[in-house]
Amino acid sequence: MKKVITTCPYCGTGCGFYLVVDDEGKLIGVEPAGEHVVAQGQLCVKGWNAHHFVNHPDRLTQPLIRKDGKLEPASWDEALGLIAEKLKDIQARHGNDAVAFFSSAKTTNEENYLMMKLARAVFKTNSVDHCARLCHSSTVLGLAATFGSGAMTNSISCMEQADCILVTGSNTPEQHPLIGTRIINNVKKNGAKLIVADNRRIRLARIADMHIRCKNGTDVAFLNGLMNVIISQGLEDKKFIETRTENYDELKKIVADYPPEKAAEICGITPDEIIEAARMFAAADKAMIVYSMGITQHTHGVDNVKSCANLAMLTGNVGLPGTGVNPLRGQNNVQGACDMGALPNVYSGYQKVTDPAAREKFEKAWGVENLPAEVGHTVTTAINAAAEGELKALYILGENPMMSDPDQNHVREALERLEFVIVQDIFPTPTSEFADVILPAACYAEKDGTFTSTERRVQRVRKAVEPVGQARSDWEILCDLAKRCGYDGMQYGSPSDIMDEIAAVTPIYGGISYDRIDKVGLQWPCLDKEHPGTSVLHAGKFSRGLGMFMPAEYTPSVELPCEEYPFVLSTGRCYFHFHTGTMTRRSRLLDREERFPYFELHPDDAKELGIGERQWAFVTTRRGEVKAMARVTDVVVKGVLFMPFHFEEGPANRLTINALDPVAKIPEYKVCAAKIRSAS
Ligand code: SF4
Repeated sequence: MKKVITTCPYCGTGCGFYLVVDDEGKLIGVEPAGEHVVAQGQLCVKGWNAHHFVNHPDRLTQPLIRKDGKLEPASWDEALGLIAEKLKDIQARHGNDAVAFFSSAKTTNEENYLMMKLARAVFKTNSVDHCARLCHSSTVLGLAATFGSGAMTNSISCMEQADCILVTGSNTPEQHPLIGTRIINNVKKNGAKLIVADNRRIRLARIADMHIRCKNGTDVAFLNGLMNVIISQGLEDKKFIETRTENYDELKKIVADYPPEKAAEICGITPDEIIEAARMFAAADKAMIVYSMGITQHTHGVDNVKSCANLAMLTGNVGLPGTGVNPLRGQNNVQGACDMGALPNVYSGYQKVTDPAAREKFEKAWGVENLPAEVGHTVTTAINAAAEGELKALYILGENPMMSDPDQNHVREALERLEFVIVQDIFPTPTSEFADVILPAACYAEKDGTFTSTERRVQRVRKAVEPVGQARSDWEILCDLAKRCGYDGMQYGSPSDIMDEIAAVTPIYGGISYDRIDKVGLQWPCLDKEHPGTSVLHAGKFSRGLGMFMPAEYTPSVELPCEEYPFVLSTGRCYFHFHTGTMTRRSRLLDREERFPYFELHPDDAKELGIGERQWAFVTTRRGEVKAMARVTDVVVKGVLFMPFHFEEGPANRLTINALDPVAKIPEYKVCAAKIRSAS
């Protein structure tokens, strides 16, 4: 047997573990790594079972091309030749922006870098994006505007150093279990104060000093209410505000309009809850904000993020261990995919495509001319453009928009209307049903590379076994395609060579190399070969110089309950499954634990509607209907339904609304109006 240390392919915590391979080269298990800086010898249930899907019989093992409506086996030559020919032809007929590229938060940094390089250098379009659009695009924009950097300010170890933690819109023990453990340890062992602001009675609420259940979508009012109390009671950090920030007068003016009584009325809580929480947070020596998609997935997601940043600056809680604004990134490499510029407005390291100097730099580095200057389509606007017939071709690498994007029927219409769809993935998905060409990709256990975790830690991913069938690493596929398109600037000997190029053009990764991260990953910014990496951002100075207060007014969600649709539907994830279920639903144990689509329903609502525990019911919105099993529980408040989105046979995103934050273009997954009726 051999053991190969690698990084977990599930959540953004970035745990390291060993893949165990038998003497016939077969992957047989996972073992924790006691020496790993984050995991420290522990894993959650997903990590323990991260080997199950690798050899699942459903794996894609050879390229497929649609002929006469049927997907037929093809050679790599045939498949890549067809892709090169069709994409060039479509661009010749409809312009460069008729083609868009979806990159992937599950693939490596090197592969995301190459996907954006392929889109920009070869196909001359900035329409490249990935699923960060659906989870944390509001973080990237909101924190970049206020702090100058759109990433988690602190480190996972800081979770054990804070005196007070405000967790809002993050079910941490279920979605980032090993980060949840750190928070629980800090509360139980060190007596840290914990404020959980979440509409659901999540597990953390059981040990919280305060559990505040605001109405879904009222976060700005809640945070403004806290800041109103802090300012009116003189609890703000005057020195920090004076020396480290700007635009404070504007913040004062806006939050003055949110006294606790008014904020509480909007949020459906009591003024005393706001006053007590404000005092608790402001009184702490080191206070930290932890949030996730409950904050970001709103039509006002950017305002929510800015309000978190405002609260941290108001109380002087930025730039020190145990403080900060800490968005927890959902997927293994969603941070890295953003860092690598798989976004329509930036190259790697957040260098803007609209900046002529940045374009010139990348033109020189890549040996090309005329890189496009216009910001491209996002994941969400690309789907809208396809539905309108404006976008003609889509290259989808490791994404599953049929399951992950809002309003599934709209996505179906969009995919059907496209002239040419390429899907590159490890398994067939509801999205690959629309593909003209399917390319089989190697999974994380079958290739080398790096992932960047939520705490900005760049870590190695290592090949433990050979790819199944004819599957190839995404980086090899992309390089081969670039060559067939006549571009010689994407020829590399190994992923390590790609990282060397990334380091050369990406200042925040300037000091990263495979040698340096062989044992312990490095946290960016890591500016040069001597730089030790950065565990806490904005120490002494914000990335943008002064921190910018950017106050926001409360605006209601787009689709609120009404007589016909009396419930608020909120979507999210459950403990045993991951995102669109492509991998976890092919894990024997994980799927056994949670096998059916379900929704949570408050006992009073269940009684009124005559729906019992584990009874099937139809959940309906203005977009469609889904059959799912009722879970009767006071985890949700009366009038609210919660539904995970992992289940193909009961897809929650058939129900969600395609309403977008005007800046980040992130959909409003957390609030839409719904009704239910028994299925029996
Ligand atoms: Fe993997 Fe996240 Fe679990 Fe760690 S906490 S083992 S990274 S899923």
